[in-house]
Amino acid sequence: MRQVILGGGLSAISSAYFLQERDDIDEILILEKEDAPGGLCRSIKKDGYTYDIGPHILFSKDKEMLSLMLEMLDEKNDLRRSNQIIYKGRYVQYPFENDLSKLPKEDLDYCVTNFLHNPYEIYRADNMLQFFLKTFGEGITNTYLRPYNEKIWKYDPSFMDTQMVDRIPKPTHEEIMRSASGETVDGYVHQLYFSYPSEGGIEAVVQGFIKKLNKKCRIKCDQAITSLKKNGSRYEIVSNGELIEADRVMSTIPVQELSEIYAVPKEIQGHIENLRYNSIIIAFVKTKEDLSGDNFAFMNPEKDIIFHRISKMDFLGEKYQSGSAAYMVEVTYRRGDYTDSLSDEVLKEKIADGILRIGFAENKEDIEFVNITRHQYAYVIYDLNHKDNMEHIRKYFKEQGIVLNGRFGNFEYWNMDRVIRESKGRAYIL
Ligand SMILES: Cc1cc2nc3c(=O)[nH]c(=O)nc-3n(C[C@H](O)[C@H](O)[C@H](O)COP(=O)(O)OP(=O)(O)OC[C@H]3O[C@@H](n4cnc5c(N)ncnc54)[C@H](O)[C@@H]3O)c2cc1C
Repeated sequence: MRQVILGGGLSAISSAYFLQERDDIDEILILEKEDAPGGLCRSIKKDGYTYDIGPHILFSKDKEMLSLMLEMLDEKNDLRRSNQIIYKGRYVQYPFENDLSKLPKEDLDYCVTNFLHNPYEIYRADNMLQFFLKTFGEGITNTYLRPYNEKIWKYDPSFMDTQMVDRIPKPTHEEIMRSASGETVDGYVHQLYFSYPSEGGIEAVVQGFIKKLNKKCRIKCDQAITSLKKNGSRYEIVSNGELIEADRVMSTIPVQELSEIYAVPKEIQGHIENLRYNSIIIAFVKTKEDLSGDNFAFMNPEKDIIFHRISKMDFLGEKYQSGSAAYMVEVTYRRGDYTDSLSDEVLKEKIADGILRIGFAENKEDIEFVNITRHQYAYVIYDLNHKDNMEHIRKYFKEQGIVLNGRFGNFEYWNMDRVIRESKGRAYIL
């Protein structure tokens, strides 16, 4: 039996890893449109630097998946999170609510009083904004959570559902008082410690999986898939003009791309068109001096700084050190929006302005752009219609016998651990 997997990112590679154990499958063929596998877990190599599409770190509450990912690495660096929120020129340690004493007095009072006397506490939270107000009060919401989330999602949080946030713990009164009185309490402890490949960037995880694939598996890159059709109980795929037959198909390509090669009914097409996602610009920048301390990621809620996050790559270990400081800058956008319309030159200007504003360089001449790339599919947006849209889409593809998997294939905000967990689950139910 031949299994074809569309797309060659982590979900496809990890699916092949589990599926190869099945005796009823003789051949697993992965078709990837780029010149190499890895998808969002590819690491970019430029001018001697290696960096990811957004800083990827290895952490998980799912111990089995975490140890499987770490098993794929020859060597790893174990690190402790040191992330800051840059608020009005000050560093507030992440998560914001745990380090309130760093705020200017007026903002501190605003956050604490509205947490202790929170009129929204009694309501049901039906959207992300309501969740923030109910859980943290108006002060923390308006000072940090709302502006930062608006910046990363480019979406009003009152039009997003609570799937992303409903597991965020509500701080107790005592915790907020401790945070306000100057005690920095570590929060979100499941990601306080993380690992990162000693060499090769996050792609090393994917390469590790690839090394463990047996003779049944084949990865074909540079595949332009133009059509997928169901013919009885089998499937016909046309890729680079060649007809490939399959007994089973799993799609890990964005569901929007799948609908371009597989004829779907108008109603399903409508649901697919209504799905919301963000794209991302990744700029890799070097500065003359290291002015950001022993920290990794910095979140920027301020509206007039174009990037929402800047991360110092040197933090990740010896093989990523630049001699001064090298940063990865992230800017989200959506097709057709204002940011999308900016040329690389204008983007560089705006990014450099932001870097000067946060004090990571003293002069524009001290900032050197190494590379700038755009990636269409980066973040699934849990807008208010996401669940309903996906229910219809999943039901339809299930009827077609096509298994959806992966972050954009199944259209869920999944990290690497969840992607691999779902690949394992799908390998045995097929
Ligand atoms: C900015 C950012 C930061 C992240 N940070 C972390 C982190 O710190 N930790 C963590 O665990 N996870 C992180 N993730 C999530 C992680 O990247 C994803 O969970 C994972 O890479 C998803 O793998 P996938 O195979 O599902 O999707 P993808 O990697 O998107 O793979 C899909 C593949 O399909 C291919 N494809 C698309 N269209 C076609 C077509 N028509 N024909 C053939 N092939 C096609 C693509 O080229 C791609 O290779 C982050 C993601 C982003 C965007």
